[in-house]
Amino acid sequence: MTSKEILEDLRQSFLREQKALGIHTALGSLLRTFELSHPNFEGFIFRPAETKSLVLTTEGKFGVDDKQQIRVPENILDFPLSYTIHLLFHEFIHIRQRATPNFSASRPLREFEAYFAGLFSPNRPVIPLSEHLREQFLAAIEKYYQQMTEEEKATVQDKYDLAQKRWPESGDPRFLT
Ligand SMILES: [Zn+2]
Repeated sequence: MTSKEILEDLRQSFLREQKALGIHTALGSLLRTFELSHPNFEGFIFRPAETKSLVLTTEGKFGVDDKQQIRVPENILDFPLSYTIHLLFHEFIHIRQRATPNFSASRPLREFEAYFAGLFSPNRPVIPLSEHLREQFLAAIEKYYQQMTEEEKATVQDKYDLAQKRWPESGDPRFLT
């Protein structure tokens, strides 16, 4: 079986679980399977079904102990699992950022760091990132870098330069935490 087939099988099993036990249970299994967790994560909230693109958002106050929820479309399990997992990882980076003491980075900086982690963090999901999603993450890195102040740009210059190299999948350096 290819990894794509394995993921499709898994997606089907989460869909069956959703049907039998509800979406909260199914998404809980999904998070456990891919080891996505944070003490401040409180659960999922839902927006109407989407067909074209998968949009996830983290909602909650910034603070070491403040609880966070991730809003997802109610048909989230209709999307390819590799896509869903990498986007959930991105939201869990935001949850971690919000729980960091005295965290005050601007939105461009927060997004830049989260997209960068999605490509380079050694902790990122081990399942393959599609070419489409990789291009989307690189475009986001570019967009948020351009929105930063010169001072902010200087703090992420090494990361930006690395992202610019557009390494091949096989040569992914994954050298940062
Ligand atoms: Zn984000």
